[in-house]
Amino acid sequence: MSPRGWAVLTLALLGLAVVLAALVLVPWQRPPAPRADQLAALRDLPTEQVERAREFRAALRPGGWAALGIGLLVALALGLTPLGSRLVELAGRPFGGHWIAQAILGGLAVVLVADLLTLPFSAWRHSVLTRYGLATNGWGGWTVDLLKSYAVSAVIGAVALLGFYTVIRLAPRWWWAFGAAGAATLVVLLSFVLPVLVEPVFNRFSPMEPGPLRTELMDMAARDGVPVRDVLVADASRRTRAVNAYVSGLGPTRRVVVYDTLLREATPTEVKAVVAHELGHARDRDVPIFTLTGALGAAAAVVALYLIGSWPPLLRMAGVDSIAQPRAFALLLALVTVAGLVSTPVQALMSRRLEARADAHALALTGDPAAFEAMQRRISSVNLGDPDPPRGEYLYSATHPSTVERIAAARAYAREAGR
Ligand SMILES: [Zn+2]
Repeated sequence: MSPRGWAVLTLALLGLAVVLAALVLVPWQRPPAPRADQLAALRDLPTEQVERAREFRAALRPGGWAALGIGLLVALALGLTPLGSRLVELAGRPFGGHWIAQAILGGLAVVLVADLLTLPFSAWRHSVLTRYGLATNGWGGWTVDLLKSYAVSAVIGAVALLGFYTVIRLAPRWWWAFGAAGAATLVVLLSFVLPVLVEPVFNRFSPMEPGPLRTELMDMAARDGVPVRDVLVADASRRTRAVNAYVSGLGPTRRVVVYDTLLREATPTEVKAVVAHELGHARDRDVPIFTLTGALGAAAAVVALYLIGSWPPLLRMAGVDSIAQPRAFALLLALVTVAGLVSTPVQALMSRRLEARADAHALALTGDPAAFEAMQRRISSVNLGDPDPPRGEYLYSATHPSTVERIAAARAYAREAGR
């Protein structure tokens, strides 16, 4: 069989593996609370709060969609015309067009152009966050964050670009196979090192201060059978008033993080409800599930790029001879951008299911639906979240069930438990 034949077979198997992993590992059988219960929960929220949240979300919306649209247009303009390949050539010219210079500098230049053209929308978003009192960092802090994130992306991007084009040179016929394995490995590696290498670039993390709340949280984790060395507090208040918590990392780098804003704004029982939810993620191995499906998806994407990238009309449009050249990087990026936009709703749906399971875990672990509901109200009011967002937006990108869904689920739990 030719390399192409093997690639078609590999892609089919990887596609099957992604679907099977998602089917088996994601809890699909949990229906959301009935719509009538959600609407009842919505009616119980203060009208001014809901209106202000909707006004805020409406203010963010045009910039958000515009950034998405412009990002796509720029990616297509660079990838489906010779513009991108010229940009790569230009970046490599001071180094005599050496392939390493084209691969790293050219690749980064293409990404930078796309980033810079959507920069006005990021700035606009920040101005809205500031106007509504959510951002606390000012333009100086915003600029520093931006430069830091460019630097982090440049380092990770340079390693990925150099690795990718080295593999292509070493194995010109079979690069897609090594590339697929490399992409999957990179996803796992990033999931492992992000909490210890990248997150500290943006925030300081300190162990939660000893006290009754910390003791209760550690006891709860022990009761839950989730070994947690510490609950870490992130200094999120340096850039936002929003409250949040999350788990990240794999194995030895796994951690439960709460925002300092959460400790400041929420009552201890609400913090317990939040941490119980995060313990649910840890116990049900949601980070490994996302990492595994992400790794399989990344591997499949590399093979798909190899196959689609040999289609002559596409190569002609991009003004390149082969998708494997550094000059074709913009074409590669255009295909990846389209794939990202198409897969967003699938990833969001998967995330919502895992989040609903973590909510159920939090309710069972704390046995305190009232605190859970209070916590949902708190998050929605402080973060100016629309408790019942527009359906299309929800289906396309919501990573969490809506506030009214979560409150309705807590009330259903309370009814069943007779509390
Ligand atoms: Zn969660």
